[in-house]
Amino acid sequence: MLDLNNQKAIVLLSGGQDSSTCLAWAIQGYEEVIALSVNYNQKHIRELKAAERIAKEAGVKLLQAPLMLPSQLKSITALVQGTDVEEDMGTINADNNLPNSFVPGRNLALILLAGMVAYMEKAGVIVIGANQVDFSHYPDCRKEAINAMQDALNVGMDTSFRIRAPLMDKSKSEIVEFAKAHGALEWMKFTHSCYNGTWPQCGECPACKIRAKGFADAGVIDPLTQCQTDPLEEYLAPIREIEKDVEFLSINVVEKKSKTKKKGEE
Ligand SMILES: [Zn+2]
Repeated sequence: MLDLNNQKAIVLLSGGQDSSTCLAWAIQGYEEVIALSVNYNQKHIRELKAAERIAKEAGVKLLQAPLMLPSQLKSITALVQGTDVEEDMGTINADNNLPNSFVPGRNLALILLAGMVAYMEKAGVIVIGANQVDFSHYPDCRKEAINAMQDALNVGMDTSFRIRAPLMDKSKSEIVEFAKAHGALEWMKFTHSCYNGTWPQCGECPACKIRAKGFADAGVIDPLTQCQTDPLEEYLAPIREIEKDVEFLSINVVEKKSKTKKKGEE
């Protein structure tokens, strides 16, 4: 069996509020932390740029991995490139009773990728911001799914990985408090939640509403709402010069496969 370092953690970092909070938690709890962000042709490049910015803020190495999803998924989910249903974002899909922001199997695939990276890095721990209290009730965010993936990785790779999901049973307001307790509140201004991918946030989509409610319930001001200019502007400006669709073509994604980001200094 592979000899793993149980003080080394791979953190799945989407660029959102929950995964950024998990990163702060992991940094406090483990000796070595590597962040992993995955380009699955998500609708908003802001997410990936937010992950870069947060990894820099946290001073951890960031790995970026591509994940090619079947193009047919565009017809059933609103969170991958190529869909044009932004106005319906968050509406319930009649076929599965889930929001159309659900990308089937996404989190399972992310965990599998994290398992591959953990194997290469000999890291004993994988951290994911899955949360089963979340409004969306994605089945792959539930404890059963995470536990099953842990078993699958360990059976399939002959390893003893442990998947940690510290936010699993927390409400959105508890997650805000958790971020604050772990010194990550200021990072929240770099996080991306809005399904419409805009700055300022649209304030109307389900992700914006649930974020606002979480901060309000916790009695904490969301640092993102206090920004006078786009906190990710310096990361996004170069991309705006490029044709958006070209940036997202999978051929470009594949070329980014081994791209790593060196540990940042603040
Ligand atoms: Zn929004």
